[in-house]
Amino acid sequence: MLEVRELVKHYAAPGGETVRAIDGVSMHVDRGELVALYGPSGSGKSTLLKLIAAMLTPDSGAVYVAGRNVSALSARDAAQYRRREMGFVRQEIEVMDGASALDNATLKLLDNRTGWRRARKQVTPLLIELGLKDRLRHRAEQLSVGERQRVLIARALSTKPSLVLADEPTGSLDGERSHEVLRLLTRLCREHEVAMLLVTHDPQAAAYATRVHELRDGRLREYSPERAPALPQ
Ligand code: ADP
Ligand code: ADP
Repeated sequence: MLEVRELVKHYAAPGGETVRAIDGVSMHVDRGELVALYGPSGSGKSTLLKLIAAMLTPDSGAVYVAGRNVSALSARDAAQYRRREMGFVRQEIEVMDGASALDNATLKLLDNRTGWRRARKQVTPLLIELGLKDRLRHRAEQLSVGERQRVLIARALSTKPSLVLADEPTGSLDGERSHEVLRLLTRLCREHEVAMLLVTHDPQAAAYATRVHELRDGRLREYSPERAPALPQ
């Protein structure tokens, strides 16, 4: 589903130096899989996500999604790829206060020109599946942190993406909420046949992942459970 092939991305740093942000990374995530990626600050995680989201062009190598080279898309096609084929989950602060859980979850469909009636109809079962049946009409600021995170997950899945990138989705949750969200993500990946790449510092995530990688100085290595995962800096 997602295939990252020998990806390289260097930045020109002040002083004429070159930062090898991504330095030959290959990996894949199949449908139904949740692959976790650990890495300390500065290891290249954001750069890798942006390359996969076709927000940056690699110096060499390529990203394939469902067999298509998304590294070669025009800016317009790349935006469409992000809107339609990709879901993106970050921290719960991205829920819009003042709007209901239901309306918040429809935003991505509206962005894809789905009418609001149809959008609401489409996201309602997803919100119910995520345990928010009694929260549909609650405004975002009336929801708990974990509930807000689940609204964002519904939004990310609403367009039936084949690939979801999750960037520290449990970053603002306590241990127990974090477990809940991870359990939910694993189940959703399987049931919705989504390929999910989870970038995280959460040591609990490894237990839920199909595979775990570690990024260090732009290079990927197998994560070994004996070594403690890289902690935030
Ligand atoms: P992470 O997300 O793991 O913190 P990043 O992908 O943001 O890592 O950064 C990887 C490396 O690339 C770091 O050394 C960072 O300073 C450098 N870097 C990131 N973006 C730029 C940029 N636009 N210009 C120059 N260097 C950059
Ligand atoms: P910056 O890192 O400069 O703050 P952004 O806020 O645009 O840039 O993006 C931060 C992170 O969010 C990146 O890792 C990027 O891949 C991801 N991102 C932002 N918007 C999207 C999107 N629509 N689809 C996929 N990834 C996104």
